[in-house]
Amino acid sequence: MERKDMLKKVKRVVVKVGTSTLTHPTGHMNFNQIDLLTRQLADMQNQGYEVILVTSGAIGAGVGKLNLKVKPKTIPEKQAAAAVGQGVLMHLYEKFFSEYGKIIGQILVTNVDFQNEKHRHHARNSFETLLKMNVIPIVNENDAVVVDEIKVGDNDTLSAFVCRNIDADLLILLSDIDGLYSDDPHKNESAELIQTVERIDDDLRALAKGAGSELATGGMATKLRAAEIALSGGAYMIIANGSTDKVLNRIMAGERLGTLFLPESHRSQG
Ligand code: GLU
Repeated sequence: MERKDMLKKVKRVVVKVGTSTLTHPTGHMNFNQIDLLTRQLADMQNQGYEVILVTSGAIGAGVGKLNLKVKPKTIPEKQAAAAVGQGVLMHLYEKFFSEYGKIIGQILVTNVDFQNEKHRHHARNSFETLLKMNVIPIVNENDAVVVDEIKVGDNDTLSAFVCRNIDADLLILLSDIDGLYSDDPHKNESAELIQTVERIDDDLRALAKGAGSELATGGMATKLRAAEIALSGGAYMIIANGSTDKVLNRIMAGERLGTLFLPESHRSQG
C-alpha cells in the first residue's frame, strides 16, 4: 500500500520528540526546533488531525535553568531538575503554541497509569476530553516524583503506551537519526535506511541492539520495543529525523521519510 493511502485512514497521531531535538549540544533549549515543531503540530491540527505530543527534555531544561555544571546523578537531584525543567518546557510550549492559536494541556504519567486498568481508564478519559475540546495534550513522565524502579524510564516506550491506550492510528518518533538502518550508519558508510518494516523479528532486534545510535535516553532498541507496543494496538509507527525540514507535514503528505513500521492489521481494517 502507498503511504498516501495508508495515511488516509489516520486521524489520531502521537508525536514523540527527544531531548536531542529540543536542545543544543550545549544543553540549552533549541528555540528554532521548538518553534518548527509546534508550528507543524498546530498545522496538523488545522488539517483535522488529533495530535498528542510526548516530549522529553524536562531534566535537560532543569539542568540548564539551574546552571548545573554536570548532569545530576542522584535520584533526588534528577527529580529536582525535572521539577524545574518541566515548568520551563511547558512555558515554552505555551508560548509557541499560543502564537499559533492553540491550547495545550499537560499530562504527566508514569508506569502505573498504563499497567493498572483503572488508571488506564482515567488517563484515557483525560486524553479523550482534552481532544474533544481541541486541546493538544503535552505528555511526559512525572519525573519529579517517580523513581527508577517504578518508571517507564524512556519516552519512546511511554509514547507507545499512550498510543495504545488512546487507540491512536499513528505514532511518530522524532529522533536525531533518519530511521532504522541496515547497520550502524556511524560506523558503516554503506548502511542503508530501511523504509518499511513489515515484521519485527529476532534479526531486526539484534540489528537495533547493535545500533547504539542516539545520544538521549532511548536508542534503537527502545524504539523497536515502542514499535512492538504501538503495533500490537493496531497503530502504524514511523521513526524520522526531527531536524529534517518540515518533517511532520511531509510525512503526513505521504512522503517516504524515515522508517515505517506496519502492524499485522490496522484497526481500521477491522
Ligand atoms: N522524561 C525524561 C525528561 O523529560 C526523558 C526521557 C527520555 O528522554 O526518554 O527528561
